[in-house]
Amino acid sequence: MTDLTDKKDALIATAKRCFDLRLQTNAGGNLSVLADTGDRIVIKPSGVGFNECTRDNLQIVHLDGTIEPSAFKPSKDLDFHLDLYRIRDDIRAIVHCHSPWATGYASAGLEIPCLTVQTIEKIGRMPLIPLSAEGGPQTEVDISPVFRDPTIRAAVLANHGTIGVGPNLQKAQYLAEIIEETAHIAFVRDTLMAAHGKTMADLPTYGTAADARAGTAGS
Ligand SMILES: [Zn+2]
Repeated sequence: MTDLTDKKDALIATAKRCFDLRLQTNAGGNLSVLADTGDRIVIKPSGVGFNECTRDNLQIVHLDGTIEPSAFKPSKDLDFHLDLYRIRDDIRAIVHCHSPWATGYASAGLEIPCLTVQTIEKIGRMPLIPLSAEGGPQTEVDISPVFRDPTIRAAVLANHGTIGVGPNLQKAQYLAEIIEETAHIAFVRDTLMAAHGKTMADLPTYGTAADARAGTAGS
């Protein structure tokens, strides 16, 4: 099998997992993966659901924006996908979905706190990217500056959805799952704290495992 066929099959499997976990229903969201040659991507087109991706409907798009002949319309988010691959060598796969807990947080203007051991250690921060200056959906103009920071691997788009990036589709998908899981946990924490009259001052401070080993956790 060629690399592009392998990449299509990996994208189809990842999209199905994302759909099965209810992180993306209907035909929204999109995901893409960079070919081994580094000059083109495989991406889900517009109007095709995560559960309906096939080798025949996925599009091949070159990093210069040239779309190989296809019966499908390109995703509205194609430009931000292409731009992220152009600005970061370590980004080789992107999963963008409209998962409800995370999107709810972002739509309330709240950054999802990295409050679990896993998110503190592995992500550090999931920036909130507001709507575009015109009030519309975020484009590469809003998204790329955030990802120019090489430590950023996940972000949440106000009134829109989430972005996870990684060296392959599995890692980008895991981030999409962690973002949603963290938003869910944060909502439960904040709801229970409000119900029990607790404030952030009542919570213990915590750091990374490396901090703990160094005896500096919470300092
Ligand atoms: Zn979207």
